[in-house]
Amino acid sequence: MNADPILDVAGLSVEFHTRRGIARVLDDVSFSLPRGGTLGLVGESGCGKSITALAAMRLIPQPPGRITAGRVRLEGRDLLALPEAQMRAVRGDRMSMIFQEPMTSLNPAYTVGDQIGEAVRLHQGASRSAALARAVEMLGAVGIASPERRVHQYPHQFSGGMRQRVMIAMALACKPDVLIADEPTTALDVTVQAQIFDLISELRERTGTAVVLITHDMGAIAEMADRVAVMYAGRIVEEGAVADVLHTPLHPYTQGLIDCAPGRRAALGIAPGEPLREIPGTVPSLLERRAGCAFVSRCAHAMPRCSVGLPAETRLDGGARRVLCWLHADGQAAPSTAG
Ligand code: SF4
Repeated sequence: MNADPILDVAGLSVEFHTRRGIARVLDDVSFSLPRGGTLGLVGESGCGKSITALAAMRLIPQPPGRITAGRVRLEGRDLLALPEAQMRAVRGDRMSMIFQEPMTSLNPAYTVGDQIGEAVRLHQGASRSAALARAVEMLGAVGIASPERRVHQYPHQFSGGMRQRVMIAMALACKPDVLIADEPTTALDVTVQAQIFDLISELRERTGTAVVLITHDMGAIAEMADRVAVMYAGRIVEEGAVADVLHTPLHPYTQGLIDCAPGRRAALGIAPGEPLREIPGTVPSLLERRAGCAFVSRCAHAMPRCSVGLPAETRLDGGARRVLCWLHADGQAAPSTAG
């Protein structure tokens, strides 16, 4: 564990007020990220991965959302306490984000050079010509051929994979301390996915930018991340070094995610063409108030106490690994069923 993380999220809780009630979409989420490190956030859709990223960037629409507890520290500075004007200066400069579908983030009416250069002008006070030169340099860095010509083109003149490269160029143009990549390759075909992951790794090594990679793809985690945090129903249920978590998952949900990964076919004896395993059931509604473990209805190891309460987090390996499950809560008292 790094004593001086670049990003430190502690006890982050978020709720959304809906017509049907209050949804607790994040519950006591904590993690930290060292300089130059990569943390994978994994889980099924709706488990809170993207909300974690949006909350850290202070991009949750308020209302209907509300950050009810926690802090997000970038180099020791609590972002949740910053005035909005200062937070705007952080976004796109010290912390940037790339999304699944670049067309929702790129403006079709401006050239890619204008859009990459805008961040450099805004945050670093660069002149128009210096910003254009930086845009050309960044397009070259993300592997776009003829960047001097392409910088004057519009987003629709790029393929899906090339647009994602433009987004990465834009996100890294100001050399941020932290890049949050939210399912950056889901909309792309497999070959382009591999290229984008290689590109993010290479740029991270070159610039020292720390990366939070949000994905449901365990293969991408194995390839890209140093550490992984597994999210379920708004909580982190397991976190540790990638090799430890993938080889000896402790939480039944982590085990389920690994068994569902396409790369596990051979290990599970599933022949090509046979359907992959699935975790039975679905993610529970976040509108429900529950005392116990949110995974209980899908868990093959569930015990009566799992419906009654949650154990405190169990820390292992000198604190380098943690899990939230009664199976690993030796020595902790089971919740009382009385009353
Ligand atoms: Fe399964 Fe109980 Fe552990 Fe939840 S706390 S994952 S229900 S064993």
